[in-house]
Amino acid sequence: MSRLDFKYTKLGPVGLCIYCGANDELTDEHIIPYALGGGIQLVAASCRECAGVTHKFEGVVGRQIFGPMRTRHEFPTRHKKDRPEHMPLTVLRGGQLEEVAIARHEHPAFTPVAWLQPCKILDGYEGDQRPIRLRLMANEGVTAEQLGADAIQFEATFNLSAFHRFLAKLAHCFAVLYLGIDGFDAWLLPLILKGEGDAELWIGGDYRELPPDSRPDRSNAHSMQVSLYRTKTHGHVCGVTIRLFCNWFVDPAPFGMPEYHAIVGAVNARTEGRLASGPFFPIISQNERPTGAAVRQKAD
Ligand SMILES: [Zn+2]
Repeated sequence: MSRLDFKYTKLGPVGLCIYCGANDELTDEHIIPYALGGGIQLVAASCRECAGVTHKFEGVVGRQIFGPMRTRHEFPTRHKKDRPEHMPLTVLRGGQLEEVAIARHEHPAFTPVAWLQPCKILDGYEGDQRPIRLRLMANEGVTAEQLGADAIQFEATFNLSAFHRFLAKLAHCFAVLYLGIDGFDAWLLPLILKGEGDAELWIGGDYRELPPDSRPDRSNAHSMQVSLYRTKTHGHVCGVTIRLFCNWFVDPAPFGMPEYHAIVGAVNARTEGRLASGPFFPIISQNERPTGAAVRQKAD
């Protein structure tokens, strides 16, 4: 078991692409995207071509799922000038739908949050019904009553395939950081690079309703952890548990954000030794905050 708190930290250098093995034109790779407040970077870890692929599905997740939340809470952005002061909200008034502009800090910024089914590899493929539970997380903000409206309407698009690839990428990156590229036999590369394979085999969650993480240091918005499992069908495997925005909660009942599990590959002869000795790559630099960007957390 290993846990790493998310300060703004650069580790490495890796010296080759962690997705395709290329060793030229390498870029630094954020484990969790910068736009979601991710603080850990693997230095010289992704080629430009693979970075193009991962940025595409990360962009879908960043916009469709977390877009309003990012604007409302002023997540880091490289396009600060483009951040709107007002955000649109659809309301029902006298039987008609209307769009109104709401100041950023008063916008409920609804966020769809998914509780995923357990990965098939961990539950032995049991259970035919594998529903995904979606809930809306609402921020404190204007109410329909205050707007003189009958209701607020919200439509969410949740691209599950992009979300699976996003979780696969986070988990693969974190496993590489902790174990090294040869510290496990990686299985998720076809899913990450091409969307190939049965994502539900490796990527899932659980239906537990966890309380919000109560760590006092609120800069640690995400938590990830490497764990080893023994499975019925695939032997000894290596997984990463991911909890995004672990301090946040889902209104109205204060459910904490869910945990996800991604099985990144088979355990090999090096895995256990690497896991016992902490992150494989050395820290190059560390800051409390990135310069010029602020992450504001929901105040509860
Ligand atoms: Zn590559």
